[in-house]
Amino acid sequence: MTWLFEPDTCPGLFYGTSAQDGFLIRLRTPGGLINLSQGEAITQLFEELDLNTIQVTNRANFQIRGLKKAPSTEVFQTLSKLGLAGKNPRLDHLRNVMSSPTVGIDSQELINTHPFVFAILNYIENNPHLIQLSPKFSIGIDGGGQVSIGTRSNVMAEHRYNEIQFSAVNYHDQIFFHLALGGDKKLWDTEILIDPKDCISVLDALITVYLDYVISNPREKKLRLKHLLQDWGLTKYLKQVQDYLTFPLTQAKITLSPTLPYGHLGIHSQKQEGLSYIGLSLILGHLTVNQWRGLVNLSHRFGNEEIRLTPWQSLLLPNIPTTKVKEIIPLLEDLGLSPFVNQPQGAIVSCAGKPFCGSAITQTQLHAKILIQYLQERIKLDYPVNIHLTGCPKSCAQPSPAEITLLGTMIEQEDNFVEGYKIYVGNGQESLKSKVGEYAFVDVPQIIEKLIKEKHRT
Ligand code: SF4
Repeated sequence: MTWLFEPDTCPGLFYGTSAQDGFLIRLRTPGGLINLSQGEAITQLFEELDLNTIQVTNRANFQIRGLKKAPSTEVFQTLSKLGLAGKNPRLDHLRNVMSSPTVGIDSQELINTHPFVFAILNYIENNPHLIQLSPKFSIGIDGGGQVSIGTRSNVMAEHRYNEIQFSAVNYHDQIFFHLALGGDKKLWDTEILIDPKDCISVLDALITVYLDYVISNPREKKLRLKHLLQDWGLTKYLKQVQDYLTFPLTQAKITLSPTLPYGHLGIHSQKQEGLSYIGLSLILGHLTVNQWRGLVNLSHRFGNEEIRLTPWQSLLLPNIPTTKVKEIIPLLEDLGLSPFVNQPQGAIVSCAGKPFCGSAITQTQLHAKILIQYLQERIKLDYPVNIHLTGCPKSCAQPSPAEITLLGTMIEQEDNFVEGYKIYVGNGQESLKSKVGEYAFVDVPQIIEKLIKEKHRT
């Protein structure tokens, strides 16, 4: 293998992270946006690496598994030139800055966050010392639109736990970014309102104090913002941040605007008259080369040559003339992509599981696919139910609350152990609130069907 850098625990593009099935790489897509040239470069990547599928992650990255060889230097160079690889490869593994996939087209949006996403990425690129942060360091920026990065579903408490989260709010007829801090599966409301022009200065102060804390408390595993908040508390942290700034921080109690559950799926009008966007669910984020090629063609033929990756392992085709939506639907269906919101796969999430992860007890991906097919054949939903399959308690795939959680376990059956799940129903705050029972996987689809019929809409 010829990687440009040594493997890291968190995948980037320039070094593969070793997994059970080969190397794993991730391509960061700034703002989740893919234009025509980038789309074509990804098609070439499929071909060069002989890939059958590529996966959209829950931070709007592309992920490739099971690699046996590193991409060629030319591929690195092309992707870098097209903005799909960090200019500073050593920082490429840091998490993608998360923003709503409906930026600029969302009728409720208060501010277009794309310039901020690129300003934040530029700030990161120009501060190589940020490599000292944990690779899990994360930033989210939300424009206050209907499709918020904070929620996927109708479970209002389902937050994205970005360590630093800016959300646009209207306060006395002025737009600010409200600041929340993420850690320990919760968001800490700082009540700080930031003038958008000061966003990068405040980010710099937040990161500088955080980094000082990490450097002065060296550990084998880098400390995270949650450790700082547990250790210092919010007040001490914010005071140090304020001391670093040359202007006072404003605080006020605010309420975030309501969001549209599952607004990233299905057909929706844009704020631009006569245009619509179409949200497409993918089975566990997987996309085949044919589907990708087809989407690139359709975005060229009907849209503005743009495809967007969402933070929910799905895709969006924006800027489709509303008069053309009827024409494009069968073409999407021919590609095996549903433009309708009522598909079970729209909110079924699974971690890598066996055989890809050494900690996994069960084959979560395989089981999730079987479950999706089973539900597709039997249940009609208005919108999906968020079901999370996790191969161990780490819950890598979805740390936020799920409506139903399947936690991998081994079940004893007639002197044998078979793969199964502990099934839990969440209450909007906690995923594991009520335990339903422990079952061999063969019985799980039926149990889930019954649960959905009892507790959800069918
Ligand atoms: S949740 Fe556990 S089993 Fe699943 S990928 Fe993470 S570590 Fe592996």
